[in-house]
Amino acid sequence: MYIIMLGAQGTGKGTVAGLISKETGFPQISTGDIFRQNIKEKTELGIEADKYISQGNLVPDEITVPMVTNRLSDKDAENGAILDGFPRTIEQAQKLDEILAKSGKKVDLVINLTTPREELIDRMITRRVCPKCKATFNTKLHPPKVDGICDNCGETLVQREDDSNPEAINRRLEIYEEKTSPLVEYYADKNVLRTEVISTSINRLADVVSKEIVEFIKSK
Ligand code: ADP
Ligand code: ZN
Repeated sequence: MYIIMLGAQGTGKGTVAGLISKETGFPQISTGDIFRQNIKEKTELGIEADKYISQGNLVPDEITVPMVTNRLSDKDAENGAILDGFPRTIEQAQKLDEILAKSGKKVDLVINLTTPREELIDRMITRRVCPKCKATFNTKLHPPKVDGICDNCGETLVQREDDSNPEAINRRLEIYEEKTSPLVEYYADKNVLRTEVISTSINRLADVVSKEIVEFIKSK
């Protein structure tokens, strides 16, 4: 089953994707994590991508699309995957349809997470990530057991560069509205969309929502 996660920055998209991946066994493919790993290792792809990422802009398709195509051809993604961060534009969605169609596959489910805007900015500022195992924490909503240390692997947590830069935060939210939100309609038209609200104001966070999604997937 090929599942896409949609949702603005700070909705808890990566957290939900991780929980679904754990329960279903489908690999979580996060384009942001792949880019950050390449930046850390100073690969050619990383150096190029960082020019865009540090400003909060999208990395061009010439770099992003082949990277995703490659990753999807790995053995562990043969029967399904959870795409977290791709597609982000209509053009990327069309490319993805083409890539999957080549092996007789398609997008089976799109989870659209929505969160009130005022909560999003706060969540990006309070987000902390593990540079080693990629787990995500939040100093307010789900802090690690030991302050500043990853629960899973003991590594020191860090704040992403683009989460500590207010201009990059605003730029990313703007791009989401303009380029990514049209995907909601694109997938609604294909009858694969499922929308979920995640918000502290109604006490619905990633754990509850993920559980419902996993039950839904298993019932299909
Ligand atoms: P966020 O959703 O909070 O921006 P991600 O970890 O998903 O974080 O992505 C980090 C950055 O990586 C994005 O701001 C963008 O520059 C780049 N990126 C990730 N996925 C894509 C994509 N599908 N197309 C273009 N750029 C991407
Ligand atoms: Zn870790």
